[in-house]
Amino acid sequence: MATPLTAAQMLDALKAEGLTVHEHAGWKTHNRDAATGKSFGPVIGVLIHHTAGHGDRELCYKGRSDLPGPLCHAWLGRTDGLWTMANGRANHAGGVDLDVLNALRAEKPLPVDNQANADGNDCLYGLEIENLGDGKDPYPEAQYRQAVLWAAAICRAHGWSEKSVAGHKEVQPGKVDPSFDMDDFRADVQKQLAKTATKPAPAPPKPGKPRVDLSRLLQAAKADPGAKQGHVSYMAGTNLTEAALVKLGYLAKTYAGDGSFGTTTIAAYAKWQRHLGYSGGEADGIPGKISLSRLGDTTGLFTVVA
Ligand SMILES: [Zn+2]
Repeated sequence: MATPLTAAQMLDALKAEGLTVHEHAGWKTHNRDAATGKSFGPVIGVLIHHTAGHGDRELCYKGRSDLPGPLCHAWLGRTDGLWTMANGRANHAGGVDLDVLNALRAEKPLPVDNQANADGNDCLYGLEIENLGDGKDPYPEAQYRQAVLWAAAICRAHGWSEKSVAGHKEVQPGKVDPSFDMDDFRADVQKQLAKTATKPAPAPPKPGKPRVDLSRLLQAAKADPGAKQGHVSYMAGTNLTEAALVKLGYLAKTYAGDGSFGTTTIAAYAKWQRHLGYSGGEADGIPGKISLSRLGDTTGLFTVVA
């Protein structure tokens, strides 16, 4: 017993199970609730059908003169994929055996269906699978697989096991659909339910870029050149700046990596400033906020904090 999934919940469940979902125009408000005065739900299981035809998607949406649509909640084409067709009550199950409904609700083995004394449209989701149902028309592997995923998606969303899945032939006397074995089908649904739903995992957080502290780099650029050869004021920031200058070809690799913002680094940085359009005292090799940020951005090596 469960409240039927909303259209949004249905789409989420189907997609999380790994299905590509095609939405028939208008499906979210397409149902038989108003016309029959009977609402859909509580729901207790899913029902599998074959259409006994080909090219019958629109027929399943609109219905026939003697049986108004929707004729299912989802239609599964031989090669056209899975289509959501209705949200609410659909004309797919008809009169069914109450004993079978009770067994489905309790997730117990299904008794033989020998009477049609309950309305299956009250409480069952229905899938129509495009197939002649003559035992010769094959179900392509991809189509069958999607049927398993559809059933598993709804069972998972409601917390049901594969025992909440039935074939039309198991609930209504005289019906022969679907033309494959339902015990096999339930076993395949069970296998699918044992897996974790394939909800896309959230993207792993990207590691932040290293930061260069402008004020500390300025100190280095002012102190290091006049100090003893190899004087180090700000190892990490200087190395990142030099690596960027090397990457852009303004500094030879041999001068980079010692952590000292010496005269060679000053000269290289001045070249970068001239490249940016600075001249004279503005291209003195002492980093500024704009030139340093551009250097970090252009090379992708660091961001600047001031
Ligand atoms: Zn059927």
